Amino acid sequence: MPRETRESAALFERARAVTPGGVNSPVRAFNAVGGTPRFIASARGAWLTDVDGHEYVDLICSWGPMLLGHAHPEVEAAVREAIARGTSYGTPTRPEVELAEEIVARTPVERVRFVSSGTEATMSAIRLARGFTGRDLVVKFAGCYHGHVDALLASAGSGLATFAVPGTPGVPASSTELTLVLPYNDRAAVEKVFAEHGDRIACLVTEASPGNMGVVPPEPGFNRFLAETCRQHGALFVSDEVMTGFRVSREGQWGLDGKTEGWRPDLVTFGKVMGGGFPAAAFGGRADVMHQLAPEGPVYQAGTLSGNPIATTAGLTTLRLATDAVYAHLHHVADTIKAATSEALGAAGVPHVVQATGTMFSVFFTDAGPDGAVRDFDDAQRTDSAAYAAFFHAMLEAGVHLPPSAYEAWFVSAAHDDRAVQTVLDALPAAARAAAAA
Ligand code: PMP
Repeated sequence: MPRETRESAALFERARAVTPGGVNSPVRAFNAVGGTPRFIASARGAWLTDVDGHEYVDLICSWGPMLLGHAHPEVEAAVREAIARGTSYGTPTRPEVELAEEIVARTPVERVRFVSSGTEATMSAIRLARGFTGRDLVVKFAGCYHGHVDALLASAGSGLATFAVPGTPGVPASSTELTLVLPYNDRAAVEKVFAEHGDRIACLVTEASPGNMGVVPPEPGFNRFLAETCRQHGALFVSDEVMTGFRVSREGQWGLDGKTEGWRPDLVTFGKVMGGGFPAAAFGGRADVMHQLAPEGPVYQAGTLSGNPIATTAGLTTLRLATDAVYAHLHHVADTIKAATSEALGAAGVPHVVQATGTMFSVFFTDAGPDGAVRDFDDAQRTDSAAYAAFFHAMLEAGVHLPPSAYEAWFVSAAHDDRAVQTVLDALPAAARAAAAA
């Protein structure tokens, strides 16, 4: 007997009558996997409870933010105390200073400015890069997502290194014709585009380790190569750590490459974990670049709820609790789930590739590319979406909520304890067989 979804189905029907697709962010609608999205009524630790009363081990973690798990008692207490003091003043506050100090202490940025979403962070970073350099062109990689910023909702035109075409109706060609889209991990393409347009490029923006086409880590030295190429041409290197920041390691992806290799990005964007489950995001970087921002400099940027005291309190409390022990636990949980998933899929004869950066990982339902890895968007797109859909629904039935899309990272938290992990392990063999039969 499949799990009863009557309440979710009823809410979904009501939702669709008043909201496009019934959801406030497209991937939640289950379009990629089919079926009714589960409406979640509450969450605690590693578990979600839906409106029909079913429990699921959560491998979405709000698409990254819930590093400590849901309703962490100390985060909850800090937020309750903060709310009792009022929720927004439109003035500077203490928590935003302390969160900025924590971010500056952990990451390569010297100054940081808060915003409310990752989209705003990358949009603002690009404006600042253009304002600082006096140049207009932006370079990005196919398969990297930086939020729904017009200039970055671009797909590659035909051929390599052509100016981009809008990836969605509603974005004027004039917004994306200043964007160049390259294949990820492709040094030759980067060299070519800088050789041709280097003196017009304001910045190159990349996910620090892409997670939005599944996890496709930078090949060793790739980020350093990007940083050096930008420097040689007077362009800024913008590292988008919205997903990886404070997630893949204490210091984000930079802690896994830049710090050991001795280089820094010029600008970095953050979101997700640093908001502790509230709408908070940030961009930061070199002091001389950040000083170009209003009110110190001429580049305008602002926000009514930017640095909101509740969101920054949640983020600050989360980061203070995100100790080395937390990251060690996340590694352990991720490694256990990765190994068991690979074993189950292998036993069922399902082609797959597991890739990770730090504690963030994903499973591609595809054969490895020519070099044994998924290294760019073309490789990632060979994923067998039907096999993933069958796998996803079998896992859901067994009480494990994966991301409802084959192109997403799987997220774990400090609250994923033995019981939660065992629930995942128990569900895998049958789900792998369902994928094999799809
Ligand atoms: N950059 C990256 C790397 C992201 O993963 C996301 C969101 N998934 C964003 C930017 C946009 O963040 P938001 O959804 O908060 O606007």
